[in-house]
Amino acid sequence: MQGLMQERPLSLPLVLRRVERHFGHKRVVTGRADGETEATWAEVCGRVRRLAGVLDELGVPDGARVGTFGWNSQRHVELYLAVPCSGRILHTLNHRLFRDQITYIVSEAADDVIFVDRSLLPVVWPLVGGFPSVRHVIVMDDGADASLPGDPRLLDYETLLAAAGGSVRELAVPDEDTAAALCYTSGTTGNPKGVLYSHRSIVLHALLLLMVDTFGIRERDVIMPVVPMFHVNAWGLPYAAMLAGSDLVLPGPAMAPGQLVAQMERQRVTFTGAVATVWRGIRPLLSGHDLSAMRMIVCGGGAVDDALSRAYQDAIGVPITNAWGMTETSPVVTTSYLATVHDGLDAVGRRLVIGSPGPAVPLTEVRLVSDDGAQAPWDGTSPGELQAAGPTIAARYLGESTPGTGFTSDGWLKTGDVATIDPHGYVRIVDRTKDLVKSGGEWISSVELENAIMADPRVAEAAVIGAGDPRWGERPVAYVVPRSGAGLTAEQVREHLVPLVARWWIPDQVVFVEEIPKTATGKFSKRELRSWYWRDAGTGPEHDAGSASTAATKE
Ligand code: AMP
Repeated sequence: MQGLMQERPLSLPLVLRRVERHFGHKRVVTGRADGETEATWAEVCGRVRRLAGVLDELGVPDGARVGTFGWNSQRHVELYLAVPCSGRILHTLNHRLFRDQITYIVSEAADDVIFVDRSLLPVVWPLVGGFPSVRHVIVMDDGADASLPGDPRLLDYETLLAAAGGSVRELAVPDEDTAAALCYTSGTTGNPKGVLYSHRSIVLHALLLLMVDTFGIRERDVIMPVVPMFHVNAWGLPYAAMLAGSDLVLPGPAMAPGQLVAQMERQRVTFTGAVATVWRGIRPLLSGHDLSAMRMIVCGGGAVDDALSRAYQDAIGVPITNAWGMTETSPVVTTSYLATVHDGLDAVGRRLVIGSPGPAVPLTEVRLVSDDGAQAPWDGTSPGELQAAGPTIAARYLGESTPGTGFTSDGWLKTGDVATIDPHGYVRIVDRTKDLVKSGGEWISSVELENAIMADPRVAEAAVIGAGDPRWGERPVAYVVPRSGAGLTAEQVREHLVPLVARWWIPDQVVFVEEIPKTATGKFSKRELRSWYWRDAGTGPEHDAGSASTAATKE
């Protein structure tokens, strides 16, 4: 017997109608190089309906991909709504990827039109010749003075919107499984792969972010996604803000640490999320700003080192909360919170709990699978590959008719991360499968070693890779950025590690560099570091001349 409840699709027009009807007076603020702009959600939603009409006028077919190259801005939010709510697919593109990757992605997705912030036009326009499917490039003028090529394909966002006049387009998506958005994985190995989100997966994910033991996003919040809107729906925060009715604060191109922290102070931001690199950049500026409105800072996409979290706790009373996810998982699968089982912990213990990835959010499930294919126990020490399943997790990649090698035969996503899970379900990431260092037959966690090195106040950043060793198979090599004026030596790095890690984990090689190379999404690029290593060892693949490693001193 079937239930007798209404079948209403979980689709984004529901989110649009809610923020428009209930929270029209709340605000969307966007940073610019020269200040800020502000609009109400009512104004934004009116523009969204006109923008859907513009897509009709341009003849963008149902289900077509609409590419975006944009900073976090009000116009990007308008695209986040207008494109999927009118039956097209929002394809956010990362302008920091290599040119060949961008061309590959736009071609594979066969984008019909693309929207570009004017400040990004100098990066994007030279590539447009390699985008055969793209009929129009619509420029969003963000105040940059980048010149506009005289080309009939180029159109202006505000001119199109003004021409759309007062047209009010009915926005409805009857089938919740319709594709809504497309994002490519950052492709650490091989070609990037497309992850195609549905209306249902996005709405469910936004709802999960509102739960009190997830991010607890609420009407009173002032939400600032620093994580770029080209990356996994900027963690779902814009949609969560719409559902909850929060103010949304967006940095626009004003992404320098000083500009970010000033905007957080000015707008009395209560909740923000970014990768650890951003939090490290802001850390030295904390004492000069009033961030007393802040209630939660989330670090996603990588581990939180406790030294960083402690610095935030000491300066503004808010330690950093960790969350784990992937492009394939919408992305939030786990985020930490203090449960009743942690009641006895002291302040440091509590900080360590919330600085770990934490348990799976409701509706998603995780498991650990060991090398022999058996499930590993949840004892907090047995490692295994983390696998995930749930309605917000990809079933296969774009272009795959059946799930490929990234998925198990029973439909779980193989994450490629090695983790442990404690008896209460708290996940700890040990490493990426390919980033573990195997020394003398024993695994060394490069993540734990990096965090131990970064616990030294004389260290700004550190990343560890494994390098071939005739005796041990592999040995860890540490790349370290000393804090300015620290005058750090390799011996001091090793001495600092003695009480923190097993003796055989201590790296023989410590390489001082000016900067750790980052991926397009701001994570440490282990691939780039490996190529530095091979170049410096003189035996490996060629590497671009002039990288920051030229400033390296090896000890
Ligand atoms: P992406 O698809 O670009 O978001 O990258 C996902 C990968 O980032 C994961 O598979 C992990 O290797 C890494 N990652 C994400 N969150 C965390 C975290 N909290 N701790 C450690 N690694 C993480």
